Order: sequence, then structure tokens, then C-alpha cells
Amino acid sequence: MSFQEFSEFLSRLEKTASRNEITQILAELFKKADAREIDKICYLVLGRVAPNYEGLEFQLAEKMVARAIALAYKVDIEKVTEQYKKAGDLGDVASALANSKVKIQKSKLSVGQVFELLKEIALESGKDSQERKLTKMANLLSRIDPLSAKYVTRIPTGKLRLGFSDMTILDALSVLEKGDKSARKQIEAAFSVTADIGKIAQKVKVGGLEGIRRIRAEPGIPIRCALAERLASAEKIAEKMGSKFAVEPKFDGFRTQIHLWPHSANASRGKEVRIFSRNLENVTHMFPEIVSAVKKLPVESAIFDSESIAYNPATQKLLPFQDTVQRKRKHGIEQAVIDIPLKSFVFDILYLDGETLLDRPFFERRKQLEKILGKSDTRTIVLTDQEIISNAEDLRSKVDEYLKQGLEGAMVKKLDVAYQPGGRGFHWVKFKRHTENTKGEESKVTDTIDTVLMGAYAGRGKRSTFGIGGVLIGVPGGDGKYYSLTNLGTGLTDEQFREMFKIVEKLKVDKQPFEYTVDKITKPDIWVRPKVVLEVLADEITPSPRHTVGYSLRFPRLIRVRDDKNPEQATSVHEIKELYKMQTGK
Ligand code: ATP
Repeated sequence: MSFQEFSEFLSRLEKTASRNEITQILAELFKKADAREIDKICYLVLGRVAPNYEGLEFQLAEKMVARAIALAYKVDIEKVTEQYKKAGDLGDVASALANSKVKIQKSKLSVGQVFELLKEIALESGKDSQERKLTKMANLLSRIDPLSAKYVTRIPTGKLRLGFSDMTILDALSVLEKGDKSARKQIEAAFSVTADIGKIAQKVKVGGLEGIRRIRAEPGIPIRCALAERLASAEKIAEKMGSKFAVEPKFDGFRTQIHLWPHSANASRGKEVRIFSRNLENVTHMFPEIVSAVKKLPVESAIFDSESIAYNPATQKLLPFQDTVQRKRKHGIEQAVIDIPLKSFVFDILYLDGETLLDRPFFERRKQLEKILGKSDTRTIVLTDQEIISNAEDLRSKVDEYLKQGLEGAMVKKLDVAYQPGGRGFHWVKFKRHTENTKGEESKVTDTIDTVLMGAYAGRGKRSTFGIGGVLIGVPGGDGKYYSLTNLGTGLTDEQFREMFKIVEKLKVDKQPFEYTVDKITKPDIWVRPKVVLEVLADEITPSPRHTVGYSLRFPRLIRVRDDKNPEQATSVHEIKELYKMQTGK
């Protein structure tokens, strides 16, 4: 497919806000694409040149792209800047300038060729790389037609926002195969095990639904994390779990999925390690001590699921999340390893020495873990404590013990079930401080809620000094839309107000994002695009006609900004309804 033809699809995608229509257009695009390019097409429509988890970024400032445009179309940079001021989008500027150059021939570059050229730009690093990126970008722009130039410019500047994610691509692959969304579940199951959207699309294209049935976990490619459900009391948990179940401490750190495998090109070069976050981002560079510790384990290849948390080396005591979060950084990592060392508490194993363990029951996976980590002498990779219990009383006393140790609570796990990638289910139930009150009674809201920042209100009185007076937060509906849940104002400390203001300034947009469903009376003064997840705690969930979820929160307060979650991974409308039911005991 030529890049120009691909750009025509992008242009159609850009013009619609309807998820159904987007799905149909994508399915049509996938039908036309051939098997060698469909993976690249998937990355490109998401504005990327590699699977998400590789974290390959362009590192090319708008200013540099403006210079590349000037160079490509042989105009002064002032002209580009001036047109940019008017148009507000560098893609439109590039397109207009390309159009005015009569000599530019129709592009012959294929989508695969443009992909490779863009990837080269992203991969340039080190000394003078900005200049090399700029030259390559100008070169590319000078070879393509005006419509292609518009999108080629938007990709490196992060402006190709078509308003859908991996999930819509999965729907479109189902439409491609079945004509409707009936195969979505099956395709999503394969994606959960191998979270590389390009690879999944390619398998579907080549082998149809049969092709993805054979997909297996592979070290190096993230597996979507298993997630826990909530229940309102120890009794309810024990009842759900069956006669015997496991209870483990719940650590409040970073989810770390650790992959280990022999160097693919050359086994004598030792082993490779990749670490993925809750969000499936590649965060390996942040944790050098985990990398070296996992290489010492007596295994060839493995995928571990773990929680990594900072500790005080003098006392061996685990530290609160505020300390662990200091490890989230790009620079000064070596010093951070010394100042804030981490331990990874491994609680599951998903792959071992060439074989997937995903389908094995938990108690078997745990035995494997005990074998491996029992023998290990690393202080960094630690086996998570576990006890097998059978009733609510024992569970409550374990949770008390964990809370006294400063832990977040307990994870309760079924023993005879497979790992459930990407799924929230009753195979794991979390029991936190808020699940019950101190008298063992069910508390009103049993968990914190992860919400999406949607907008902000202008400040009045004292709050005007912060720049904003409060924010509007909402949750995803699972249908590509976001619904408003509550206003957050008094639940913000002064420092949090300042933090919110900074975020709002960075993410504000001119008009209401099309994904937002908000009632007239709660409309904020400033809209913010869906990007940031805010974890809040509230006293109660109450029915509300003002907010489009249908519920609101009483006394919401901000716990923290969660940058390990995407907006689509925030608490869903469905979960809010479940939490409300739990609260009313229905
Ligand atoms: P979720 O991850 O379920 O969306 P969340 O991100 O708000 O919710 P929590 O509700 O705190 O997180 O609980 C789940 C998280 O607890 C897991 O994602 C994992 O990172 C962490 N965790 C800590 N200890 C354990 C353990 N022993 N077993 C499994 N997960 C654990």
C-alpha cells in the first residue's frame, strides 16, 4: 500500500468521532493491507513506529520539525513559524507548503518504506542526533505528497491523535475476520498473552482466528497483568474462595513483570532482561539491580510477576510508596540504586525454561517459584510470603498482621486456577485497610477509585491564587467514552492544587474532547484531554443526576496521581456500579 493511500484512511479516521465508524474504517484498511505491512500500519495509526512496550520515542521537538519543514520546502523558518501560529498545527503547515511546490511528484513511497524512514529518525541517538533527525525528516518530507506530509509531520510531534487505542484495533480485527465484533474476545485473549498489537494483527491476517489460537507467551513481549476484584468483607472473600486459599501480603510499590531469556543472537553474550510496568511500559532502565539479580537465578528463561518496593538497607524495613516513587526517573539512576534500593517480591511465575505456565494452576506455579527462589541467594529478588488458610477469621488476623507491618493489606488468591492475563476476576481479591472498618464491619467505599482528569474550574477567593478552583473527574465507560463522576476541590491540599494546575496547563484543549459525556451544569471552564489518572478516596458513593455516571462521590480527596495507569485502565463505570452495590449490601 502506498503511504498516500494510507494517509487517505487517516484522513477518514480523523473526521469521525464514532467508534463504530472508526472500527469499520480500520477493518477496511486491514483488508487492503498485506501481511508484511499490517503490523506497521497498527503502530502508525497509534502514532508509533514500534510496539508500545518498546517505548521508542522520537525525541524531536516541534521547533526541530518546523526547521525540517523549512528545509524540505525551501522556505524561511519565519514563514513556517508564522503559518504555524495561524494554523495551530504543523501538519497543516507542511501540507500547505508541499501543495504550493508544483514540482513535488506524487509519492511512490510505500507505507512500509515511510515506516522504516520514520523509525530511523526515532532511533538516531547520541551526539548531534537532533541535526541528523532533522535532515532525515526534511528528506522524507521532500519525497511525499501533501496529504502524506500532513500525517508524517504529526507522528513525530505526537499530534496524530485519532482517539482510539489497541482495543479498537482488536474490534477491527474481529470485523475483518467475522464481519462483526463476535471474535473480539478470542482476539483479545491472544493479545493478553502477547501484548504486541502489530504481531496479533499479522497473525490474524496470515492465519485467521486459527493463527492466533497458537499464540504463546514469549519472553520479551509483555503479558497483560492479572488484576484483583474487591469484596466487602473477610466473610465474603472466604466464601468466594472455596475451602482453601492463599493469602499474601499486599505491597504498595510498582508492579514489575520481569522477563529473562538467553541472548537471542548470541548465547555466549549471556542473558537478556526486560521489565514491564503495570501499564506494560518497558521500565528496565530504571531497575539495574533487578536486572543483575535476576540474571543470577538458576533458570534459563522465565517470566516473573512481582511488586517492587523500596526498603531501608539498615533496618530492612519496607518504605512507603512516596519513597518507592522516587525511583521513577530517567537520570541519576545509579545514585538512586544506592540511596533507595528496591526489593522485588515475586508472587507468580508465568513462563519457565521455554514453556508457558499460564495455564497451570496457581499452587503448581507457586511450587516452581519456591524451587527457584528457595535456592537463590539474591537480596533483591525475594519470594513473597504466603499462607494457606480456610476461613474469614484467619484472613482477618493475617490482614491485621500485615497492616501492623505497614503493608497495604492482603491479596487473597484461589489455588487451583490458571493465571488470568488482562482480567479482573475473583481469582484474586484485594483486602485493603478500607475494606472493613476497625470493628470488622464493611466500610462504605471498599477501595480507592482511579479517575480521569477531565477539566478544571476557574478559581474564586483564596483558591484563585492556585490558578484553578477545583477539577472535574470521571471514569471510562468501556465504550471509548468518559463519564463525569465528581468535582474535586476541598479534597485537594494546597500542594495538590498547584500540582493540578500544572497538569491542567499542560493538557488543556480548546474544546470539549469528543469522548467526554458531561452534563451542562457540571461543565468545567477548562477542558483537559484524557491522559492523567487520579486516585481518590471517598466516604460514600451516592446516586447523582448531575454526573453522567449516574453516581457521585461524597467527600472525595486526592490520594495521588497514578502515572502507572492509562485513562482506559481507570476504574470503570461498571466497577463504580459494583462498588455502589457493595456499599448498599445488595
Ligand atoms: P488494579 O491493579 O487491580 O487495577 P490498582 O492498580 O489500584 O488496582 P491495587 O488495588 O492496589 O492496585 O491492587 C492490585 C495491585 O497490587 C497489583 O497490580 C500489584 O501491583 C499489587 N500487589 C502487591 N502485592 C501483591 C501480591 N502479593 N500479589 C499480587 N499483586 C500484588
